[in-house]
Amino acid sequence: MRLAEANNAALLPENLRDDFPILAQTVHGDKPLVFLDSAASSQRPRQVIDAIVHCYEHDYANVHRGIHVLSERATDGYELARRKVKEFIGAEHAHEVIFTAGTTASINTVARSWGDANVGAGDEILLTPMEHHSNLVPWFQLAERTGAVVRHLPMTAEGLLEVDRLGEFLTDKTKLVAFTAVSNTLGTVNPVAEICRQAREAGVVTVVDAAQSAPHMATDVQALGCDFLAFSGHKLCGPSGVGVLYGREALLEATPPFLGGGSMINRVYDDRFTPADLPAKFEAGTPPIAPAIALGAAIDYLQAIGLERIHAHEQALVAQAWERLSAIEGIRLLGPSPVEHGADIRAGLVSFVLDRPHAHDIAQLLDNEGVAVRAGHHCTQPLHDRLGITASTRASFYLYNTPAEIDALADALAGVRERFKPSGRKRRRRVEDF
Ligand code: PMP
Repeated sequence: MRLAEANNAALLPENLRDDFPILAQTVHGDKPLVFLDSAASSQRPRQVIDAIVHCYEHDYANVHRGIHVLSERATDGYELARRKVKEFIGAEHAHEVIFTAGTTASINTVARSWGDANVGAGDEILLTPMEHHSNLVPWFQLAERTGAVVRHLPMTAEGLLEVDRLGEFLTDKTKLVAFTAVSNTLGTVNPVAEICRQAREAGVVTVVDAAQSAPHMATDVQALGCDFLAFSGHKLCGPSGVGVLYGREALLEATPPFLGGGSMINRVYDDRFTPADLPAKFEAGTPPIAPAIALGAAIDYLQAIGLERIHAHEQALVAQAWERLSAIEGIRLLGPSPVEHGADIRAGLVSFVLDRPHAHDIAQLLDNEGVAVRAGHHCTQPLHDRLGITASTRASFYLYNTPAEIDALADALAGVRERFKPSGRKRRRRVEDF
């Protein structure tokens, strides 16, 4: 989509915010809450909260085991949620959907199960410079355990992966490429299908971190051609404590389970076991029952609105934010410019640094105005090192944010910069002064 089209994109229903009771509050006295921290964790609509309450009030018991009515209802709800996820991501089979605790748990599961079975000394694991620590550390740990080598696909200065150089990095030794669909710091939307295509041709397995894409744009694992894909419930209007690992059937079948315990077995003997079929093989112990059911409700909610509309709405907010924030003196916006590259290059977040004050002070001063943003390294320390900064401030948007909230952010930020602008005076004003 071109930027002009994004600006004109039909906005979502005005009464949509009424679904999110938490947003209808003031903070610090009379400041309306402007919640711009959904990339860390989104808010959830009443429909999802109701699904959790309904489960605990009417249908809760442990799943798959009990021959009683509550267990049957809970099992039905849990398995229905799995089928909803299957449709949501375009998987071929429901048993390719594994419920986990979140993206981090999903990626660790791949590293421990598929990784330990398939990666050896001297093999190469290809990552990118814009990965979240959740898509770095499990691979570093795998490399430590196996003697494999970690490499990085290069990135341009403005935060675009150099996909045209991917061929150089897919060597005979490359076993796996793990990369994010959307950068949680830069906002860059990566060409997932193209990376997967090249990897597949080279016989390399792909792991897609969809934590920041699944909530905001349509996902189709078959069209993307990925082998594994991970995302979290709490970033897409669902509860925390539940996430998804998608794996292609053939790969999951051939992969030994990582966590051992109840539910993941077919038969246990004195000294050995045989694993259960998919998906139970990868769901040891009591799973996140009510959270998974509520994740199903979140998917219903998002699909009723439409992921395309949500994405278009966020692109319009990004276009507005980019225009308003670029006008602030002393600001550096991180990631590729949507003006230069078009709206499709970015998802719904904008990170920035000001020449002064520090990112944490900015977040505190914005919070004083009711504007909730995130400051720090956003679990992307290597990326911040490459950008030559230690921290940034991130405003992230979701379906419930409005153009008026982008204006509130821009006005508050302009006010912060104005107070801290170089005055010629010797003494630097400190955040405590305000
Ligand atoms: N990857 C990315 C790109 C993320 O933004 C996040 C969450 N900040 C994660 C992984 C980790 O997700 P979780 O904490 O839900 O496991």
